[in-house]
Amino acid sequence: MNKIAIVGAGVTGLSAARSLTAAGHAVTLFDKGRRPGGRMASREGMAGSFDHGVQYLRATAAEADAIGAGQLLPWPAIAPHDGSGGWLAAPTFNHLARHWANGLDVRCSHTVSTLQPGATGRGWQLRFAETDAVFDCDALLLTLPTPQAIPLLAAAGVAPGRLAEVRYDPNWTLMWTPADPLPAGFTHSAGAADAPLAWIAREDLKPGRSGPPRLTVQAGARWSTTHLELPAETAALELQALAARQLGIGSSSLAATAHRWRYAFVSQPLGEPVLTLGRDLHYASDAGLGSRVTLAWQAGRAAAARIAAR
Ligand SMILES: Cc1cc2nc3c(=O)[nH]c(=O)nc-3n(C[C@H](O)[C@H](O)[C@H](O)COP(=O)(O)OP(=O)(O)OC[C@H]3O[C@@H](n4cnc5c(N)ncnc54)[C@H](O)[C@@H]3O)c2cc1C
Repeated sequence: MNKIAIVGAGVTGLSAARSLTAAGHAVTLFDKGRRPGGRMASREGMAGSFDHGVQYLRATAAEADAIGAGQLLPWPAIAPHDGSGGWLAAPTFNHLARHWANGLDVRCSHTVSTLQPGATGRGWQLRFAETDAVFDCDALLLTLPTPQAIPLLAAAGVAPGRLAEVRYDPNWTLMWTPADPLPAGFTHSAGAADAPLAWIAREDLKPGRSGPPRLTVQAGARWSTTHLELPAETAALELQALAARQLGIGSSSLAATAHRWRYAFVSQPLGEPVLTLGRDLHYASDAGLGSRVTLAWQAGRAAAARIAAR
């Protein structure tokens, strides 16, 4: 049995951890967030829940069954395409991440600040921003976005190799409870690739959800890049105005919050699910095959197979 550390408890890290644990390894995940899930994120407030990261899975029924562990509901509003449809986790997407994390050793609020080769010349040693604790492992898997992984690797004297080729688009996402009634029958809409708004979805009408009428609004890649450094309050006001115009309603709000995803979607992936960067050191994430839950899950499985084979 090997002692394996995984940095990042998003889809990739959780997928790898479940696979390695099932194969009998001792796995510990570290995440800087307050709970597992990474970009599979949800916020729960007075106005109800919002999925402000992953919106839906596009998958066949067999894939949804394998990944979703019985937690996914079909979302008929998403048009079927090539045998696949839209799937939702209920009551929120973050609940699916928490379901995957059940029974795993997941240590949240642990920001990995330093990586160091193990003292015996084997394995790795991790240090953290929040505590003086030190963690030694036989093998290390990094699953954080490449712009966050590269400085950690550089400080440990590890060259990033092909990780330096990966590119991301940012995303501004608005969680909005409008004061005005929403247009009857509206469930969601997707914008053109370069439109200011890429996506609007009514949270309360998704299967398995309820509560007051409310919207998740995602800006497009170009708008998000141009407005990346806006204060969140300003981004929220601008996105409300854009969404209100598109839906033909007033822009006043009962509640509104904007979230900036600096590394939201991989625009230039590696084309391979996992990279081995050094002895007992591997990298996998959606940077490998692309920004889809199904692809990140696949990357986690591939990383687990690579680690288990060594
Ligand atoms: C707004 C938005 C909408 C999306 N919509 C969809 C969708 O509808 N369908 C779909 O299939 N995909 C969607 N995606 C893409 C999907 O979310 C990602 O492909 C997938 O979640 C990536 O998982 P990951 O584990 O590779 O990375 P992440 O989820 O980014 O996980 C990396 C983890 O590393 C942690 N971390 C970072 N640095 C450190 C550190 N130093 N120490 C410890 N932990 C650290 C982070 O906290 C994070 O939890 C969307 C993404 C965004 C942002």
